[in-house]
Amino acid sequence: MTIPLIDLTAQYHSIQHEIDESIYQVLESGKFILGSEVSIFEKEVANYLGVTHAVGVASGTDALILSLRALEIGIGDEVIVPAYTFFATVTAVLHVGATPVFVDIDESTYCMDISSVSQVITPRTKSIIPVHLFGYPAEMTKLLEMANFHGIKVIEDNAQSFGAEYFGQKTGSFGNASCLSFFPSKNLGAFGDGGMVVTNEWEVAEKVRMLRTHGWQKKYYPELLGYNSRLDTLQAAILRVKLHHVDKWNQQRRILAQKYIDRLESTGIQLPIELPNRKHVYHLFVISHKERNRIQNVLNNAEVASEIYYPQPAYYADPCQKFKYKPGDFPVSNHACKQSFAIPLYPEMTDSQLDFVVGNIKDALRD
Ligand SMILES: *Cc1c(COP(=O)(O)O)cnc(C)c1O
Repeated sequence: MTIPLIDLTAQYHSIQHEIDESIYQVLESGKFILGSEVSIFEKEVANYLGVTHAVGVASGTDALILSLRALEIGIGDEVIVPAYTFFATVTAVLHVGATPVFVDIDESTYCMDISSVSQVITPRTKSIIPVHLFGYPAEMTKLLEMANFHGIKVIEDNAQSFGAEYFGQKTGSFGNASCLSFFPSKNLGAFGDGGMVVTNEWEVAEKVRMLRTHGWQKKYYPELLGYNSRLDTLQAAILRVKLHHVDKWNQQRRILAQKYIDRLESTGIQLPIELPNRKHVYHLFVISHKERNRIQNVLNNAEVASEIYYPQPAYYADPCQKFKYKPGDFPVSNHACKQSFAIPLYPEMTDSQLDFVVGNIKDALRD
């Protein structure tokens, strides 16, 4: 039994007819850039998340960059980011010329540790980017209080957590702006790259709209230094179909996650947690154990996929060397990089597949 980390073909086959039809309609329309599929999808996502504006862009990374630009964050500004995240969170900060200021994560949720945030706020802090990591909502209440008090903009990195909730409210609806990614493996994934900026602020939305098309409102008259960063019409049509299914898929992820948790509870493995009033959507099922190597070897021999998220903390990356952090600066992040890894979880996974994964993990720990 070969078990992949995720199975995008299985997902396609489950909705093939609807998807093929949506693609065909775009091909027949002859319109491939923006247009009604994109604007309708933007409205549907805004409704889903409970925000007033959504602007489709070319990727989640671009969504972060354009959000920072729209909020006028750049050279000389500091942006607080978690030390443990997909590096694109940091790439965006670097691309606008701002300085990433790292904070450690909470050891049980892997999200930004809020108590560390207050310690690194300076007069130059212009933004905080909490990452809703692996499908779990980062701590928002205290963060928003702090940000409001200091006049700091909050940009949520919601690339991994489409559909997650914090006190009944969807992640991505809290910040001054939020970024979504439709990278194929994300909970709402396209058949290529795609992303979106969502916001309740009209000015931010308008500016991102200009930035994504060469910085102009009136064609050929740029007012801002813009980009070419749009969500493809084809991807929007595909994503509109998938949006109808995403709640069901997230629910299926939650059911499978609970089965993993029930079966792995007494193994000594650190498992994902869900505090009260949080809704986890299990983009990845990340577990942690000091015998990671041994477990991964056994899984590998049984043809069960597993993957390390992330092998190094963000502040170790070459583009961050100039900021002079020391190797042990964020011990919780470092520890997560040494011991955590993801095991297969996707909505189409069967119970027997899940039991096979669990059986192999238990074997590895018995040896
Ligand atoms: C995927 C991801 C991004 C970037 O999204 P792309 O669409 O791949 O550019 C940003 N932040 C996090 C946390 C991600 O997981």
